[in-house]
Amino acid sequence: MDLEKLRETAAEVVAREDVKYLLGWKSGTFGYRVAPGFVEDTAGAAELIFSPLCTANLATYLTLVEKLPVPRGQEPDQRKVAVMVKGCDSRAVTQLLVEKGIDRDDLIIIGCPCPGMVDPALLAEKYPETEEPAVVKWSENGFLLAQNGRETNLARDEFLAVKCQLCRYPNPVVSDIMLGEPVEAWELAEDKGVTEVEGKDADERWDFWVEQFSKCVRCYSCRNVCPLCYCEDCVLDRLNPTWVNRSVNISENTAFNIARAFHLAGRCIECGECERVCPANIPLGRLNRKLAREVRDKYGFEPGVDPEAEPFQASYKPDDPEDFIL
Ligand code: SF4
Ligand code: SF4
Ligand code: SF4
Repeated sequence: MDLEKLRETAAEVVAREDVKYLLGWKSGTFGYRVAPGFVEDTAGAAELIFSPLCTANLATYLTLVEKLPVPRGQEPDQRKVAVMVKGCDSRAVTQLLVEKGIDRDDLIIIGCPCPGMVDPALLAEKYPETEEPAVVKWSENGFLLAQNGRETNLARDEFLAVKCQLCRYPNPVVSDIMLGEPVEAWELAEDKGVTEVEGKDADERWDFWVEQFSKCVRCYSCRNVCPLCYCEDCVLDRLNPTWVNRSVNISENTAFNIARAFHLAGRCIECGECERVCPANIPLGRLNRKLAREVRDKYGFEPGVDPEAEPFQASYKPDDPEDFIL
C-alpha cells in the first residue's frame, strides 16, 4: 500500500466535520509492537502505517470505546468513526452490523487489501525483539525485516500467521474507501491445528483440552480483545446468578472457555486475536475454527460476509417446524 496515499486520505477524512476520529495503526514503541492510533488531525494521520505487523483487529474498539456510557451531563458525540480494516477486520465490522451492535451510518470504513501478516511471536522467537521499533515490509517472496541497521529476508511460509495461511477473505468485504488494489487470494493451507485434534479419540481430545484449559489464568484478555464479545452485561461476570465461578481451577476454566466458544459459534470471524493475546498460549483458534467449520458445513452459514444476513443464533422464524423438539 502507498503510505502517502493512506496518510493523505486519512487527513482528508479526519478534516471532515462529521468525523470524530479515525482508528488506524501506528508504530509501537519497541520491537514488533504496533499500536492502535486514534487519529484526530493531520499530524496524527502522518503517523499511520500499514505493514505486516498490523495484525490487531481495530474493530474491537468500535464497541470497546464507543459503547462506554456517556458521563452524566454530557451529550453523546454523534459524529462518525472512521476505521481501517483488513479483510478479517471487515468481517468483524460486518458481523457487528448484522447483530446491530453498531450502526452503518456511524462508520466510515477504510478498506486495506491485505497480503497477509507475520506472526509476531514466531518472528520474536527467531529474531528477538529489540528496544528499537522494527520495520517489516512485504517483499516479493515474503517479508523484509529492518532492525538495528540490518535487513533480513523472511520466507513467507515460515512467518505467515496461521490465520492468514487459512484466510479466505484478504480483501475487505465492506468499505467506503478502498486503499490500493485487491490482492489475489492464495492457496489455503491445511488447518493442521484442527486436524490434529480431530484425529484424537474422544478421551484424548478431552485430555488435550483439559491440559490446555488448566493453563488459563482467567485474565479475560481473549474476551476483551474479541470484536464480537461486546455484551455490556457478560454472563461470565454475573454474580447473581453465578453461571461460572471466578475461581481459577480446571472445572471453572473449562466452563468459561467452552461457554465463550459457544457464544461465538456462528459469530466468530476467525481474526485470531483471542489466541494472539492469550498469555498462557492456549490454542483458542483451534476451538473457534472447528466451531466455525461445523457451522459452515452443517448450516451453510458464514458470519461477517453479508451485511444483510440474519444473525445465525438469533433469528426467529414463526414457521420453523422445530421438529427436533418433539
Ligand atoms: S486473516 Fe486475511 S485479512 Fe486478516 S490479516 Fe490475515 S490475510 Fe489479512
Ligand atoms: S486469554 Fe488465555 S489465559 Fe486469559 S482468560 Fe483467555 S484463555 Fe484464559
Ligand atoms: S473468538 Fe477470537 S478469532 Fe473469533 S472473532 Fe473473537 S477474537 Fe476473533
